Amino acid sequence: MKNILLKKGQEIQSKLCEISDFIYHNPELGNEEYKAVEKLTSFLEEHNFEIEKEFLGIETAFRATCDSKKEGPTIGYLCEYDALPEIGHGCGHNMIGTMSAGAGIILSKVLDKVGGKIIVYGTPAEETNGAKVIFAEQGVFDELEAAMMVHPSDKTMESGTSMALYPLQFTYKGKTAHAASCPQEGINALNSVIQLFNGIDALRQHVTTDVRMHGIITNGGVAANIVPNEAVAQFYFRAANKETLDDLLVKVKKIAEGAALMTGSTLEMTRYELPNDNLKTNKNLSKNFNKNLRESGITDINEPKDAGSSDIGNVSHKTATIHPYIGIANCSVTCHSVKMADSTITSFAHERLLIGTLALAYTGYDVLTNKVDLKG
Ligand SMILES: [Zn+2]
Ligand SMILES: [Zn+2]
Repeated sequence: MKNILLKKGQEIQSKLCEISDFIYHNPELGNEEYKAVEKLTSFLEEHNFEIEKEFLGIETAFRATCDSKKEGPTIGYLCEYDALPEIGHGCGHNMIGTMSAGAGIILSKVLDKVGGKIIVYGTPAEETNGAKVIFAEQGVFDELEAAMMVHPSDKTMESGTSMALYPLQFTYKGKTAHAASCPQEGINALNSVIQLFNGIDALRQHVTTDVRMHGIITNGGVAANIVPNEAVAQFYFRAANKETLDDLLVKVKKIAEGAALMTGSTLEMTRYELPNDNLKTNKNLSKNFNKNLRESGITDINEPKDAGSSDIGNVSHKTATIHPYIGIANCSVTCHSVKMADSTITSFAHERLLIGTLALAYTGYDVLTNKVDLKG
């Protein structure tokens, strides 16, 4: 049966390259990916997928279904297609969306024979306000036996872990005054932000090595001769798992409150973006994917890398999930760079585009035919 999948893959290879290159040439920021969505959904529709656009009321989200109407597992392929400001597809999401849609299409060609259902999800804004978080919160992934996607990189790597992340904004409010003639009348909100940074830096001594705390000041006042009556900082807090992160946040919030007390300013804390859970890779699904990748011609599969955070983490707490990396460059290329974006349209990347798509389709086939113990 996998020979049939290979043949179907070869039949759509030029279309896959065309779509991935089109998205590369038309980079769109998160939640504005109109052209990419149009391209991917038309492709899926041509191959008889039923399309729901503006899924969950999110303009650039979609859900595309192919149902055999026969007993069997439901497989989810996750598309990403958002770009980065100024550097375009420096994270290679043009390839992610294409591989996931392509895998769904290839697998759909044998679905009638094996039963089950394939769902391709369009999940916008991975780089900022990852829609997978909302999908997970709304129970969308509860319909799946397994969810998968492949991320381009300079090296091929097994699916590993990613960190839980919580974005927190601190807004301090004080009182303006002339900074030289009557400073005693002012309440300096910026001083609270500075104490917040100092307090967080002191906390670094007392956290586990997995913890990451990094922030910026987005408002530090308007002029040096005015006591700042408002100052704002945004932070990302990360840890290997949600439990550690929750404990950390309790301490951080006390520091933030202390910084308000020190100046007499008031404090408001808000979650300014969606949080991510840590990624839990399903070991057996990952082994199966690696086997399929080897059979498709990629044998240099490296250990998982220390990843940042991604909304794929939230998916992995709902269903068996993998998020492996496929090498698309012959040399070392940094993620989130123009060089990485340009690497996605080379002939080597085009070869890898088909291999990644096929490995996803083969793995889906193995799940549909119950060859993978997803409890593992
Ligand atoms: Zn990225
Ligand atoms: Zn990415």
